[in-house]
Amino acid sequence: MNMNAFDVLVIGLGPGGAAAASAAARAGLSVLAIDKRRKLGEPVQCAEFVPLPMGRYARPALVQKITGMRSVLPSGACQHSDFPGLMVDRARFDQALATEASKAGALVQAQTVLKELDQGRRTAVLRGPNGQLEQACYQILIAADGPHSTVARSLGLPPLPVVETRQYRLPLLRPYTDTDIWLSDQYPGGYGWLFPRGAVANVGIGADLKLVADLKAPLERLCADLADQGVVGPEVLGRTGGAIPVGGMRASLVHENIVFVGDAAGLTHPITGAGIASAVVSGERAGQAAAAFLGGDGEALESFDEDMHDEFEDSLARAVMRRQWLMERWHTPDAHLDATHKRGWIAFREYFAA
Ligand SMILES: Cc1cc2nc3c(=O)[nH]c(=O)nc-3n(C[C@H](O)[C@H](O)[C@H](O)COP(=O)(O)OP(=O)(O)OC[C@H]3O[C@@H](n4cnc5c(N)ncnc54)[C@H](O)[C@@H]3O)c2cc1C
Repeated sequence: MNMNAFDVLVIGLGPGGAAAASAAARAGLSVLAIDKRRKLGEPVQCAEFVPLPMGRYARPALVQKITGMRSVLPSGACQHSDFPGLMVDRARFDQALATEASKAGALVQAQTVLKELDQGRRTAVLRGPNGQLEQACYQILIAADGPHSTVARSLGLPPLPVVETRQYRLPLLRPYTDTDIWLSDQYPGGYGWLFPRGAVANVGIGADLKLVADLKAPLERLCADLADQGVVGPEVLGRTGGAIPVGGMRASLVHENIVFVGDAAGLTHPITGAGIASAVVSGERAGQAAAAFLGGDGEALESFDEDMHDEFEDSLARAVMRRQWLMERWHTPDAHLDATHKRGWIAFREYFAA
């Protein structure tokens, strides 16, 4: 078994890990960043919307601009909100971030899986593209390995609660610049969406599998309704899905010299499911904190943890609270009331009320 030593080992090359690897390498650290996927960024498991502040990262992957969000309540009433953002080709988005990391000097390795962590010896066992086992020693490990983090499991941390999603790509039959959101008891623990992506649309639903038998039937009903209305064509051009953490951020993002970012840290918004921006921001800051720590600032990792709590905790805690409130109402008469969903969705002032 080969043994290599790095200042920073990054597990996972989604937006969180790639941003962390870039920042650490730019600061002059030796970085190994691995991902188990054969091709980085693929298959895409995303509706592909990013908020405007992600514009710098989105440029190489930009598909179209979004101006608003239409939120549809159970009665059929619609709320239109300004909600500017960008639709990206998520595979290209992730690949561009990984290329940046590589250009900054990080060693970027696909098809490489974290098998085991020996925190005492600060060593990870990795299985590489040809099945060979390698050991990598690290001073700091950045856990960017998504909602079902292997690193968290190795440390004995509890798994994050998640909702499941299912999404189809369909031909879009008319130009669209809004995202559409459906709030309904048909999608308990989540919502339905249509995100336009040029000539196609990502149509999906998220729901809590404790509350629905499966996601296929409600998604196919939504797609059929949209096809009947002439919004989308009937042929399914692609299928995807995946888990979204909905329990809010981990109590601590730092465990000795291990730093959690993005979905692995629980930074995804538990109501909207958005997590790309928080993954990039936390990843970059973790890479910078690693450099500061190894440069002699013994408090840099704790400061990172505090900064992330300051930045994300309030909005995530409100979302967790609203989610719990909604969880008590799904499949009850309240779940058919517009008023319930106004309190549970970010487009309405009721969501932000005390
Ligand atoms: C259907 C769906 C739609 C979504 N739509 C949006 C959206 O429109 N906008 C938005 O902002 N967010 C969206 N999200 C959430 C968003 O995709 C995530 O928040 C984001 O990907 C988090 O980035 P990350 O880098 O933390 O984790 P990930 O992107 O999940 O990356 C983790 C990486 O770690 C790798 N990995 C895992 N375990 C190991 C291991 N043991 N060894 C090596 N590698 C490993 C994985 O292969 C993966 O590439 C959506 C999620 C889903 C499921």
